[in-house]
Amino acid sequence: MTAPLRGSDPIVVDVALGARSYDIVIGRGQLASLGARIAKLRPGAKVAIVSDKNVAARHLDAAVAAVKGNVLQVCTVVLPPGESTKSFEHLASLCDHLISQRIERNDLVIALGGGVIGDLTGFAAAIVRRGLDYVQVPTSLLAQVDSSVGGKTAIDSPQGKNLIGAFHQPVLVIADTALLDTLPEREFRAGYAEVAKYGLLGDAAFFAWLEANWKDVFAGGPAREHAIATSCRAKAAIVARDERETGDRMLLNLGHTFGHALEAAAGYSDRLLHGEAIAIGMALAFEFSARRGLLPKAEAERAIGHLAAVGLPTRIGQVEGGGPPLDELMDLIAQDKKVSRGKLTFILARGIGNAFVAPEVDAQDVRAFLAEMLKQAN
Ligand code: NAD
Repeated sequence: MTAPLRGSDPIVVDVALGARSYDIVIGRGQLASLGARIAKLRPGAKVAIVSDKNVAARHLDAAVAAVKGNVLQVCTVVLPPGESTKSFEHLASLCDHLISQRIERNDLVIALGGGVIGDLTGFAAAIVRRGLDYVQVPTSLLAQVDSSVGGKTAIDSPQGKNLIGAFHQPVLVIADTALLDTLPEREFRAGYAEVAKYGLLGDAAFFAWLEANWKDVFAGGPAREHAIATSCRAKAAIVARDERETGDRMLLNLGHTFGHALEAAAGYSDRLLHGEAIAIGMALAFEFSARRGLLPKAEAERAIGHLAAVGLPTRIGQVEGGGPPLDELMDLIAQDKKVSRGKLTFILARGIGNAFVAPEVDAQDVRAFLAEMLKQAN
């Protein structure tokens, strides 16, 4: 782990994927460099900037100003905020818009928003004219450290989240950390769960640094940039090893099997944000690992203690309105990660910074563990 950088130079992280490699440019004020970077990548391109209403009200003018003068034409599309925008309906209207604005193979689509806008725009870019190039300008912490990197794009279906999508890598990611200043604090905290995840799954030194410096990460400045860059480096390294999630990339799902089930049970609503669900999921994964004798109880308590210290929920009982019944929770878990002959695949931990894929976890063990967790909750 490197020391935090100082000064106003951006930190550039390379996502090494051969011909599909790209840079993640991280730094305060980097949105202003968008036009010049695009002009270098695609001289004379037309661009479409896609955003949601919340982000557009705060940052769309600056994004348009940043690209004007560097591109042939700019058009904008503003969609409603929220998970329900990752739908066929919005995908269809976005595709129509891109086609009617004559955005073609040499042009660029820009996703200016959180994970919802990034996932939807990336998917539209993957399918319009059999593949347009796109740039991610993530505006939430979750999007800067996770969803904008790695090329997973998707919409939701009535059967579940992210079930319709494609792998389609962006050609550039610009993570302007100043954009996070307008993010509601609850959203920032939820995104922090994914930052802590990188420490918990593979970098004990980063986790210790977060324990000491998390307040500075929340405050902004070099510590925030360092945390985002370290997270992006971790994700980039995993994606470079396993772009299509056949092995190592599964580690990024630490906390997600429990978390997705809780998120689904809460109806993907404000009752439980994605990052909050992941925080509870990671706490459960560490607790479950400790009970299986994989790591000392004190180590699990340390992991959970940090999440709680930043104000993230760590227990099912903290879900607004209470957790779901056990049968519903088990059904949702089975849907998220298929059960094969009574066995489930989980990401468990042998310590902080030492997660691993456990493919043969007995569903009955999970059920007994959750029954106890739910009892504690009530
Ligand atoms: P989001 O896009 O809904 O953003 C959260 C909220 O913050 C929204 O209301 C948004 O309008 C607002 N917002 C965003 N940036 C803002 C800013 N700078 N100022 C003010 N308000 C701002 O949600 P999210 O948490 O960013 O992303 C969650 C989505 O990401 C989920 O759909 C999830 O499935 C997806 N995801 C994808 C990947 C991937 O690899 N593709 C990884 C993790 C999560």
